[in-house]
Amino acid sequence: MKSPAHSLLMNNDMIIRFLMTLLLTTNLYINNYCSNTPSVSPQSEFSILPLPLNSPSLDGHLCFENTHHAANDFGNRYHFLPAAVLYPKSVRDISSIVKKVYEMGTTSALTIAARGHGHSLEGQAQASQGVVINMESLQEHKMFFHIGELPYVDVSGGELWINILQEGLKHGLAPKSWTDYLHLTVGGTLSNAGISGQAFRHGPQINNVYELEVVTGTGDIVTCTKKHNADLFYSVLGGLGQFGIITRAKIFIEQTPRRVKWIRLLYSDFSTFCKDQEHLISSENYFEYVEGFVIINRTGLLNNWRSTFSPQDPLQASQFHSEGKTLYCLEIAKYFNPEEIGTINQRIDGFLKELKYIRFTLFISDVSYVEFLDRVHVSEMKLREIGMWEVPHPWLNLLIPKSSINEFAQEVFGNILADTSNGPVLIYPVDKSRWDNETSMVTPQEDLFYLVAFLSSAVPHSTGSDGLEHILTQNRRILDFCDSARLGVKQYLPHYNTQEEWKAHFGTKWEIFKRRKYTYDPLALLSPGQKIFQKEITYV
Ligand code: FAD
Repeated sequence: MKSPAHSLLMNNDMIIRFLMTLLLTTNLYINNYCSNTPSVSPQSEFSILPLPLNSPSLDGHLCFENTHHAANDFGNRYHFLPAAVLYPKSVRDISSIVKKVYEMGTTSALTIAARGHGHSLEGQAQASQGVVINMESLQEHKMFFHIGELPYVDVSGGELWINILQEGLKHGLAPKSWTDYLHLTVGGTLSNAGISGQAFRHGPQINNVYELEVVTGTGDIVTCTKKHNADLFYSVLGGLGQFGIITRAKIFIEQTPRRVKWIRLLYSDFSTFCKDQEHLISSENYFEYVEGFVIINRTGLLNNWRSTFSPQDPLQASQFHSEGKTLYCLEIAKYFNPEEIGTINQRIDGFLKELKYIRFTLFISDVSYVEFLDRVHVSEMKLREIGMWEVPHPWLNLLIPKSSINEFAQEVFGNILADTSNGPVLIYPVDKSRWDNETSMVTPQEDLFYLVAFLSSAVPHSTGSDGLEHILTQNRRILDFCDSARLGVKQYLPHYNTQEEWKAHFGTKWEIFKRRKYTYDPLALLSPGQKIFQKEITYV
């Protein structure tokens, strides 16, 4: 881990090294990219030319200065300074740069990372001394809504989901599956999965893709679907940026509702909470969105909700105390149009009667569709105001099989976590029996599993329980427990430092993942920040 100050000092040195490594010439041989020890010959010969002079003309531009932003991300813990940032204006720009670096073979140490909105947690979109491609600059094609039997939106890989929502509303159309936060790019979330409260119904975002345009690790521009170049299509979805750069995506859309009933209900018993969540996700026609979160020892919790939610029973709610308690909040949403309000209220009442929440802890909010989907942005604004957005985020996201969730909850919520004051702890089930299993995404073996997300923010320089070290230790304890109790847990937005750990993560999918890497990015140029494969350099 490097501090920003350290990275700053390294800057000049790195640029020089970049220019040197860029055009190393001849007499080189290629090692397998998976081996761990690069061999370097003292007789290496090289010539130095700046990349812009040596590269094909670009519609956009390469920038060698002011690259520090590309050495940071939302996690705010890993800082690897790139040698250059490409601001592409066309897919051709991306292809040209990738091709150029590919043609240099192992004569160069250069790697390439597509950077979406830089909301990774551990440097996954960074490329130490490499080229970072600023995907948001790629605006070659205008966003296009196709209305037909299978409606889709055709977007750039660098497009933000919030822009798709805003533009889609003009047509009354929008994607079906979202993330909780929309200021993320299409390419960034499709490289992971894109999971939110709609996933139980529609699958994650990677399940809602009709077609992709990809620049592979050899610089080729390839269009792929489930039927055409299907292996590349499935490789890239959930592929952690390893097989190609998503330059365009066609994403399935549906008609948008105008309003949303956004509902929160509290539980004190974990298994009752889980039963209700599982009941809701097995009933397609109840709610469009099902999530939940854990509350441990929070003060004034219900007061905090008052600006958005109205309690069904204000008197009882005002007397409810959350401090010292472990509570589970079920969060659900029903989409509707204003003309349906009467029947919707009746239907919601009917559904809620089936649930076993603490009776007077029902909170309802009636918001627009955008307000609901863009809800985390409101929190972002508040956190920015108090300087708590650009802080370290030692997040931990886990996928836990249904059969292990009680054991997990008992130890983690009952023992390891003293409170949830460092940030939300989300928990909700998804059923992957309707998901596409051919993508690169890794899930637990059981069809039904829970996403548990510890979304902590660390107070800078604190050495207390809100400090980075404390939170990282807590995360480690959670992971150690999962390992020792053999809960069959998989990390989501995974982070590992060694290939052995990655092998264990992919399990039976590892050989396929490796084969796909050889096929589409044989020199291991792409997304080095994931630390799955390492580009081998051999100077002779
Ligand atoms: P980046 O962080 O820039 O990139 C992520 C990875 O993808 C990198 O390896 C990068 O090299 C690669 N990449 C980027 N663009 C491309 C491309 N066009 N083609 C190929 N590879 C590419 N995730 C969920 O699933 N559900 C959520 O509800 C959710 N909520 C979140 C809320 C917040 C506040 C934050 C910060 C993150 C959240 N995430 C969620 C995680 C998010 O999906 C990932 O962090 C994602 O990587 C961020 O997207 P990005 O556009 O910033 O990608």
